[in-house]
Formats: sequence, C-alpha cells, structure tokens
Amino acid sequence: MSKAPPADGLADARDELAAVAASLRAYLEWQEDTGAVGIPRGARRVRPQPAEAASPAVEPPVVRSLEPSPERAAAAAAPPPSPEPASAAPRRAEPFAPPPPPSPPPPSPPVKAPAAAPVAPAAVKAPARALPAVAEEAAGCTKCPLATTRTNVVFSRGNPAAKICFVGEAPGADEDAEGTPFVGRAGQLLDKMIQAMGLDPSKDVYVCNIIKCRPPGNRRPEPEEVEACIPYLHEQLAAVDPKVIVALGNTAVAALLGTKLGITKVRGQWKLYKGKIPVMPTYHPSYLLRPSAQQVEAKKQAWEDLQAVMKELGLSPAPPKKA
Ligand code: URA
Repeated sequence: MSKAPPADGLADARDELAAVAASLRAYLEWQEDTGAVGIPRGARRVRPQPAEAASPAVEPPVVRSLEPSPERAAAAAAPPPSPEPASAAPRRAEPFAPPPPPSPPPPSPPVKAPAAAPVAPAAVKAPARALPAVAEEAAGCTKCPLATTRTNVVFSRGNPAAKICFVGEAPGADEDAEGTPFVGRAGQLLDKMIQAMGLDPSKDVYVCNIIKCRPPGNRRPEPEEVEACIPYLHEQLAAVDPKVIVALGNTAVAALLGTKLGITKVRGQWKLYKGKIPVMPTYHPSYLLRPSAQQVEAKKQAWEDLQAVMKELGLSPAPPKKA
C-alpha cells in the first residue's frame, strides 16, 4: 500500500530544512579548510526570531536563492571544478572560537553604498558590447606578453545575470589548463564560501579575474599586464551589472578601486566601483588556505564580509516566508 504524499507545507518545510543543512555543511567545511575546528557559537540557531534578525558576526548561513530578474536572464556555461594545485596545504590550527556576538542592531533595509567614495579607476568607455563579443576578443588577445605563455584565456564562470560578482587576481595552473577561473584549490574554497552564503556557485554568482591569462609561476601580475587586461573586466562588469562586487585580495582591490591600501586595511568596508557598484573587499581564498594561525582570524573576518554582502542584498538570516 502506498503512502499518501505529504502535504505541500510539510514537503516545503523538508526542502527548506535540507537546504539549510546543506548551507551549514558548506559553511563548516570551508571554516575547517582554513584551520578552524568545531561549530561556531550560535550555529544551531538557524531560525532567529524577527527581533534577532540582525545576525552576530559568525552566525551560520541559511539558504536563499538569488533570482535573476528577467532582463538578467542570459545563461553562462559553468564547467565543473578540477583538481587543486599543490600549494598551500591546509593545516588545522586553533579551535574555532569566535568572539561573543555584538549586540544586534535593529533590522534595517539593505546598506547603501558608502559615503566616502574611493578613487575610481581610470575612465573607461561605456560598454557597447555583449559578453560573448568581449570574450571572443579576449580569447585572441595579444596585448601583453602573457599571450605567449598561456594555454587558455580564462574569462569567467557562473551566471552573467547574477547579482554578485566575485573578482580574483589571475588564473593559476589549473585555470590556465581548463580555461575557467577558480577551478583549483582556491576555487574549491571559494565555492564553499559561496555555498555557505546559501548560494549556488553556478547559478547565483559570476566569477572572473583582473587578469585573463596566467602569469608564469603564479607570480603577481605586473602593472602593465593589469593595464592591458583590465578593459575586459570593465566591459564584463558593465555587461553583468552586478548589485555587489566581492573583490578578492590585494590585486583585485587595487585594480577595481585604485587604492594602494592593503587588503587587511580595507577588507570589510564598503567601497564603490566607478562610483556606483558597491564593492566588498575581502581576503583571497588562497590567502585563507595558507597554513598559519593568522588565517583562523582571517577566515572569520571573511565570513563577516560575506555576511555583509548577504545583508546588502537583503539575504537576511531568516528563511524566506512562504505565502
Ligand atoms: N586565483 C585567482 O585569483 N583566480 C583564479 O582564477 C584562480 C586562483
């Protein structure tokens, strides 16, 4: 005898619970990857009451989906992750014991862009081209010497209709081999961070780099290389028009915001790209993977930064209410 199917409400509740569990698992995994051990305080409190909705710094994630608006409906191919590079093996460090949460501020609408606008990058032409045309030009680019050493031009992955764009530095060996950004070990951590935000790396975000070709030996890109390559990024960002950019590490912050301040100085502070798109600077996943006690604190800070992004986008810790 077959059982009657569960009522819709029960099925919805089960789905929601499964999504919250998946998000929490991703959060704990990426915390562990960066040396943290144990469950952060408050991790069991996945369904705060309205009065608690402004979450403490390391509250666990909940699953929310970023629905692209109809006009953002272009799809992007998202190849699967590949094996990681050899560098930066993870180590376990001190147990993860986040500080007590600050008293929560009253619930507020999404934060608006900061008053103090950073220096904008050099003026760039308004975009006239759709992403495929930009990608095609980049694929044949010979504007700098990296064209002679690359295997593939690494343009983007994810969804061009996404509201969040993650910008890294430059492709590494894995990315060069596959032609896709963030597919190595740092990329795997990035995906866990994204999943911990309750988002799907292939549907809810767009991922790209300042530089589209791998600098040999994974060295930092030279200023001339950034200068030659960054027009592609400006066009990408103009076409994607994200609601928020997450700048990963020093190179991304410097190139997007025109600041020489290091990531430790600017992380966690909202800035503006071209005076209009909010940028959240945070640590690069490669930095978070380094085996040092410092990274335990850094990954807590990175999680705070990502929570600020969630708040900016109205992704509150409370699960969405069913009508
Ligand atoms: N680091 C980056 O900044 N970008 C990648 O695509 C991979 C590693």
